[in-house]
Amino acid sequence: MKQWIDKLRQERTLRPEEFRQLLTGCDADSLRIINEQAREVSLRHFGNRIYIRGLIEISNCCRNNCYYCGIRKGNPHVARYRLSPESILDCCKQGYALGFRTFVLQGGEDPALTDDRIETIVAAIRWHYPDCAITLSIGEKSKESYQKFKEAGADRYLLRHETANEEHYRYLHPENLSLTNRKQCLYDLKDLGYQIGAGFMVGAPGQTMEHLAEDLVFLKELNPHMVGIGPFIPHHDTKFAEEPAGSVDLTLFLLSVIRIMLPQVLLPATTALGTLDPRGREKGFQSGANVVMPNLSPVKNRKQYELYDNKICTGEEAAECRGCLSRRVESVGYEIVTDRGDSPMMA
Ligand code: SAH
Repeated sequence: MKQWIDKLRQERTLRPEEFRQLLTGCDADSLRIINEQAREVSLRHFGNRIYIRGLIEISNCCRNNCYYCGIRKGNPHVARYRLSPESILDCCKQGYALGFRTFVLQGGEDPALTDDRIETIVAAIRWHYPDCAITLSIGEKSKESYQKFKEAGADRYLLRHETANEEHYRYLHPENLSLTNRKQCLYDLKDLGYQIGAGFMVGAPGQTMEHLAEDLVFLKELNPHMVGIGPFIPHHDTKFAEEPAGSVDLTLFLLSVIRIMLPQVLLPATTALGTLDPRGREKGFQSGANVVMPNLSPVKNRKQYELYDNKICTGEEAAECRGCLSRRVESVGYEIVTDRGDSPMMA
């Protein structure tokens, strides 16, 4: 076990079989060791700074039917909403006043959010907040669409690959979606000059240690600016309702592996991690995470963006969230910074 941690630190990667052995050996002791090493790497590259991004959940309408997701098209029990451009700008205004310099617009693949509409919204945010980064996370689009969004002012794009294994991808998604296309989107985005984020759920139904090893090999090859990972959490209205949630410890272990493998990567401590463990995000920072994405969505819509059950931070106003997070970050010796937090890889 220790030998693989040492090798990972020296060579910044492992062979698939070595990754598998490393992950299989995740126990309390090895978690402590790898967390320490990852903290060292973070400290060297980022000091004790944690970047914040304001998350605006712009629509819960979706044309896809990803089997794990609470807002998939086939769920008839979702009260659907779509924020107006005015409402999105209002979220940015509140966020800006609270020190946010990155806005993340996330949503389902909503057919009513046409390219024109997205471009208009992005251009408006760009015009009002020239000093802020704009991140999109609205799923799979054509390269032409991504290019238009970029020209309108978008800087970054988050698109988790979900799993790098074909068969596992099939198990989690309906026929019409493909891993090939998902990966192509990531390469297109990178090619267009976006800062990109990939990632996956830890403990997704059907996931094996071999799959996770493949995810790590894929991330190393893709070399994204950001990696979003969080535990899978079942949603009661999906076919995976009875599946167990992912493991917090394995998520923390993987955060550390990724920090060591990609020292400069932006790595969020996710809301899903904070949902499964009340101190999950703090533990995330102590495992090498250096980003947190508090919710800036209008409070009245937050419960409707329910990807999984019991999601936290759905009741508080933005200002309360911001204060709460500062305290959490400081409680483990880190501090929130309010600059754009571009990837050091862009320098
Ligand atoms: N439509 C966009 C945004 C998806 S939601 C897109 O396709 O990229 C953002 C992420 O939430 C997903 O990529 C997925 O990894 C995660 N997610 C969805 N359902 C989840 C669940 N039940 N538990 C944990 N994470 C989930």
